[in-house]
Amino acid sequence: MGPTCRGNTRGDRQRLRAGSRMKRVLLDRVTCEGHGMCEVAAPAHFELDDEGKLTVLEPQVSADDELRVQEAVRSCPVAALRLEA
Ligand code: SF4
Repeated sequence: MGPTCRGNTRGDRQRLRAGSRMKRVLLDRVTCEGHGMCEVAAPAHFELDDEGKLTVLEPQVSADDELRVQEAVRSCPVAALRLEA
């Protein structure tokens, strides 16, 4: 039997379309002052350590999480976060 090309399944195509709609949150590390408001608004995406250093746990933002991450972006007092399409 020769090689076969499966191509993308319907599930693959749906995942690809969903992935292309996902937004991405970007952190400006120079501007971030470690206030932690973003962690309060969207704890699944941001984690502040004991020294005030922020880690973006999940930069990809699903449609379900978008409002929480938008709130995190809005709540940052130094505008260190940006949500990009
Ligand atoms: S709220 Fe803004 S300044 Fe504070 S940790 Fe988050 S990104 Fe940094």
